[in-house]
Amino acid sequence: MTYQHICMPKVGEKIFVKDGKLKVPKHPIIGFIEGDGIGPDITKSSLLVWDAAVEAAYSGDRKIHWCEIYLGEKAASLYDGNYFPNETLEVIKQIMVAIKGPLTTPIGGGFRSLNVALRQELDLYACVRPIRYYAGVPSPMRHPEKVDIVIFRENTEDVYAGIEYKSGTPENAKITKFLREEMGAKFFEDAGIGIKPISPFGSKRLVRKAIQYAIDHGRDSVTLVHKGNIMKFTEGAFRNWGYEVARTEFADQTITEDELYSVYGGKQPPSKVVIKDRIADIMFQLLQLRPEEFSVLATMNLNGDYLSDAVAAEVGGIGIAPGANIADHVAVFEATHGTAPKYANLDRVNPGSLLLSGVMLLQYIGWIEAAELIESALACVIADKTVTYDFARQMTGATEVSTSKFCELLITKMIGQTQILRKEIEHRRHNQEEYRRILEAARVADPVQAMIASGHMPTVVGNIMSPVITVKSNDLVNTAMHTMVEEGVDAVMVEPDDSLQWGIMTDRDVLKKIISANLSPARVRVGEVTTRPLVTAKPEMSLAEAAQRMSEANVRRVVVEADGNPIGMVTDNDLFRTVEVFGWGSEI
Ligand code: NAP
Repeated sequence: MTYQHICMPKVGEKIFVKDGKLKVPKHPIIGFIEGDGIGPDITKSSLLVWDAAVEAAYSGDRKIHWCEIYLGEKAASLYDGNYFPNETLEVIKQIMVAIKGPLTTPIGGGFRSLNVALRQELDLYACVRPIRYYAGVPSPMRHPEKVDIVIFRENTEDVYAGIEYKSGTPENAKITKFLREEMGAKFFEDAGIGIKPISPFGSKRLVRKAIQYAIDHGRDSVTLVHKGNIMKFTEGAFRNWGYEVARTEFADQTITEDELYSVYGGKQPPSKVVIKDRIADIMFQLLQLRPEEFSVLATMNLNGDYLSDAVAAEVGGIGIAPGANIADHVAVFEATHGTAPKYANLDRVNPGSLLLSGVMLLQYIGWIEAAELIESALACVIADKTVTYDFARQMTGATEVSTSKFCELLITKMIGQTQILRKEIEHRRHNQEEYRRILEAARVADPVQAMIASGHMPTVVGNIMSPVITVKSNDLVNTAMHTMVEEGVDAVMVEPDDSLQWGIMTDRDVLKKIISANLSPARVRVGEVTTRPLVTAKPEMSLAEAAQRMSEANVRRVVVEADGNPIGMVTDNDLFRTVEVFGWGSEI
């Protein structure tokens, strides 16, 4: 097919979809839109970096064949004033993947903005923003290196749907009448009215993408962000539909946070993604205090809008934050800043946002090695303090370099130091693993404290149980006492005896049955002071029911049991602490 101005590369093949999956040839054709203002400066230099990374990673075996396509001012100059030519859309649909520089919003051009039009025409429903820290970038956080988060923001519903009725208009009067008279709604006179549609279709396809991303990229959790405590049928429904997608479509690859505590004792099974949810306002707090607990976020439009910029600001990264808008398969990657017209053609600005959008593109087509090389080289060049003006003015001792020089330095790093960069990638992975182990150990050691810290509201005994320590029935009591002291517990589970029943031995049993009876713990077997049968609860039992069970049986702890085996313990003190911290109400 021939086009008016677009020239398809003669070499290279199109990316295609087979069995619902993207198939990427070794020599794919990928589109680029130069963009307006500073667009040409950053695009020209970035193309050199992306090509060099692919060459360094695959030594000629793979290569991208770039196809220039047109939007914005360059399009207008070629297509008689048309900022948004049809053939650009057609080509993106055909080649599936493209990257774009920033575009000027034409005044009175008939579009809300070219970016919005592109998203709507191609139904790019997921806005993806990965946000992580690069050492040396100025940041307001004490530990910005803990931020490594990918936000999936819904792009088509919520406030983005733009269903609004202006105060004082006939449309507003009509809907006001309907809401008051037929729906019994109460609100002040002359209120402007906005409608917030959230559908199962829109929510599920967004969350599906977020979960699939977490699985494909070895990310350990997906957090559904919502304000469902107030807006139950929109924000709360988003949360519920999100869990439903996980349960029905990713049952083997995901567990819920409740299951993490109740079934797995706080220890995340390998290759399972934890699905959790947080109220939006608490999320802002948590992302400042404990960003390391979040990996992938799935959000509706407005929450995602706020969160993306807030998290990017934490790592000083608004200037270098990358982004992408993705449909089921078609994806357009883009710099998140604008055209900064006063810097156009000066070769001065930071190419980081576009460069890292290219990293996302490489990840999207599965060329992870090339993507990692650019990320690591960028980290090294920033750490060397050879940076563009925007960073240089905020860093002490930095050397300011031009856009093209910055990219040259990146290329030198990638070509000359591939081995060193790979070691750094390994080091970073190791640190992430290490952090996860520390987190798991903390959850296992003190689940109530872990709950408090995570911002998750405990509702069932599985959420707050401690792990069990077991001893044998014919162990000597003094050996069991040493174990209790070493493990810092005041009760141990006793393995089944001839009655095949599990039992429990507490410090009070030792006090009552051995010390006060003037017996030697070195001569008495554990089985002789063990209580059987146990007072048990299922992990999903509510905290109120567990408290009832304890008081009825006149015991200070219940043993949490699954499939006939003890998996945890909850004491009266755990319940007391939980209620003291989280309060008591319908939520518990
Ligand atoms: P802007 O172009 O993002 O520029 C605002 C300021 O941000 C610049 O003056 C500069 O700050 C800094 N900046 C932006 N990009 C930079 C980079 N790569 N390196 C270093 N500093 C950078 O925002 P705007 O002035 O509001 O918008 C200008 C045009 O861009 C408008 O037409 C708008 O519609 C459009 N826009 C397009 C997109 C898009 O295509 N995705 C997004 C936003 C805006 P200093 O002056 O402090 O150096």
